[in-house]
Amino acid sequence: MGRWIHGRGYVASTDGNISLRLDPRRILTSPTGISKGMMTPDDLVITDLEGQKLAGRRNPSSELAMHLLIYRRRPDIHSVCHAHPPVATGYAAAGIPLNKAILAELVLSLGCIPVAQYGTPGTTELTEAIEPLVQSYDAILMANHGVVTCGADLLTAFFRMETTEHFARVALVSELLGKQVLLSGGDVEKLLAARARYGIQTAASAGAECPVTSDGGTERITLTRRELETLVDEAIQKDRARR
Ligand SMILES: [Zn+2]
Repeated sequence: MGRWIHGRGYVASTDGNISLRLDPRRILTSPTGISKGMMTPDDLVITDLEGQKLAGRRNPSSELAMHLLIYRRRPDIHSVCHAHPPVATGYAAAGIPLNKAILAELVLSLGCIPVAQYGTPGTTELTEAIEPLVQSYDAILMANHGVVTCGADLLTAFFRMETTEHFARVALVSELLGKQVLLSGGDVEKLLAARARYGIQTAASAGAECPVTSDGGTERITLTRRELETLVDEAIQKDRARR
């Protein structure tokens, strides 16, 4: 999995970290300070759920606390993957969630991907920032940083990282094309009902803005300051003309 996230360009240098719940008390995790594409089995570290090292010659990543938070809050989760895939991380840096119902597959698999507030890496700020989202989402954009995904097993956690980056690319292309046709609330309901048929297990449930549908009335729009000032000026002039 380390080779995959490195080979696909989801990380640069020694970035990223991966972990796996071995049993109720032990976590197997990638070490700090090594390319995830060059790890060998004896580079891996075993810790307890508080992050204390139990075995391994290297040290765990400073981001392990984020993984441990997810394991504590989500008994259904047995693997966590953190990386900086460039397109999804671009959305994270822009503070834009991947929450539009533009792809049926994404509604089925992840629902939508929110942005957690910024927190300094390696500190409790980071875990506090993702904490409110951990219970309800299996993939989270971390503002000005990257992406964290989790799953019932190693492969699912990785696939969710791959799905997130792929969806970010599709979303970016549709934005470059200047047109997005959103699925309706009815379309989304049918997809959510089909999850059981496909055996999809996910924490993601549909909420008021997750995902944003064509008839949800919650679509975000972006205006430049100039456009906003023009709109306000027009409204004031119209109001004055009426008096
Ligand atoms: Zn990171």
